[in-house]
Amino acid sequence: MKKQYLLAPGPTPVPPEVLLAMAKPIIHHRSPDFIPVIQQVRADLKWLFQTSQEVLTVAGSGTAGMEASISNFMSPGDKIIAINGGKFGERWLKIAQAFGVVPIEVKVEWGNSVDVSVVADLLSKDPSIRGVYVQASETSTGVAHDIQKLAALTRERENTILVVDAITALGVINLPMDAWGIDVLITGSQKALMIPPGLAFIGVSEKAWKLQTTAKCPRFYLDLKREKDNLLKDSNAWTPAVTLWIGLAESLKLMRAEGLDKIFARHARLAQATREGVRGFGLEVFAKNIPSDAVTAVVSPQGIDGQAVYKNLREQYGITAAGGQDQLKGKVFRLSHMGYADVFDVITAVSGVEMVLTR
Ligand code: PLP
Repeated sequence: MKKQYLLAPGPTPVPPEVLLAMAKPIIHHRSPDFIPVIQQVRADLKWLFQTSQEVLTVAGSGTAGMEASISNFMSPGDKIIAINGGKFGERWLKIAQAFGVVPIEVKVEWGNSVDVSVVADLLSKDPSIRGVYVQASETSTGVAHDIQKLAALTRERENTILVVDAITALGVINLPMDAWGIDVLITGSQKALMIPPGLAFIGVSEKAWKLQTTAKCPRFYLDLKREKDNLLKDSNAWTPAVTLWIGLAESLKLMRAEGLDKIFARHARLAQATREGVRGFGLEVFAKNIPSDAVTAVVSPQGIDGQAVYKNLREQYGITAAGGQDQLKGKVFRLSHMGYADVFDVITAVSGVEMVLTR
């Protein structure tokens, strides 16, 4: 027998309460049975996003949320700032280009957080910039960007929105959408929300809804206005992923019972323990300034391939962590401490790494 441990930055483990809820017989999404699910999810997502606005749920992975954040709020030819400090920052550029939106790239060396003054400078020189697109936690490098400072730049501008990919940050660190003035806040189901992959969530501010009325990029399935109009009637535009919604309702109950402050404190503690744990036997954390509390990228020791660490963790100990992506392939391996995670996950990850490197 080999016990399996899922310690990758998504999909993350799903609590048994959620699995059991999803195992119940399917119900019809237009029947009265589903209305309480929608109502609970609507209320709890507002709580989680710390917003008074509706949070839209679409069937698709996190990238569907990223795509919707371009297609719903931009027109072809519009200029946006795309902060690119890793694999997911790069994705903003690709999506923008696919829709004819013009990205002004702020390239950030992998391992670093964005220098907010560079963004401030670009914004001050060009009043026509319509959006700033950023990751709250860049999963490929294990680095966080300073969202509060970026929000301070965009909130005074009537026609510039801040779009935050919080796919590995929402439910991990504090991102109060309304209080900070985040305009579009995106996450996915398979990370801190503790349900299987398949849903994307998008919170939209009043300012962003105003911009939506003039945004001309093509959209149909991911038309967020249509989704919102239906949600206000406790309904969905299309057939929702009923089973995932039922799992979501259950996981949101668990999150509410724990409370936001405790959720953030738990992630901060687990992240710090992971960083200190690997440093304790001489390894280096890849993040140079603001490390992510969701995932730790660890620099592979000289002469040891990070992919081999990943492979040996799996094969010898049943631990599924993650390797490096693109330019970091072989150079780092990544340990997640996000979602349904506690101190024993950190102990498992850190001691697994130690055993792989020393035996
Ligand atoms: N953005 C970030 C920060 C991510 O971590 C991921 C996935 O890991 C994505 C975007 C893409 O999400 P998905 O693979 O669910 O489309």
